[in-house]
Amino acid sequence: MDCLFCKIIAGDIPSTKVYEDELVYAFRDINPQAPTHVLVIPKAHIDSVNGINAENSAVVAHIFEVIPKIAAMENLMDGYRVVSNCGPDAGQTVFHLHFHILGGKELSLEMA
Ligand code: AMP
Ligand code: ZN
Repeated sequence: MDCLFCKIIAGDIPSTKVYEDELVYAFRDINPQAPTHVLVIPKAHIDSVNGINAENSAVVAHIFEVIPKIAAMENLMDGYRVVSNCGPDAGQTVFHLHFHILGGKELSLEMA
């Protein structure tokens, strides 16, 4: 499958790993929008939030258990934002489900 994030999980494209377990991989965004900008992705390919269903949603619950651990590792004690862009109006550019963790400064109320 021609998916950038599947290639990152496979190690075919380099990334800066922040966290990994059997279900998820987290790495630094190549174009950070905040002092801390980490992407958390399921190892199993899901296109976007629209691809979450009863069969695969357990990994999403797991991602949301992992996110606070990553936030603590990144010293985001003052807070952070979790964003998932779904589809063209949201500006999704990589069609492998991912959750942005943004923090390390006081974030603007705009989503971008
Ligand atoms: P989205 O626009 O929500 O689909 O987010 C895709 C994100 O992937 C963007 O923030 C990009 O900067 C990021 N990105 C694209 N290619 C890479 C890469 N090779 N390594 C790390 N992050 C990437
Ligand atoms: Zn993929």
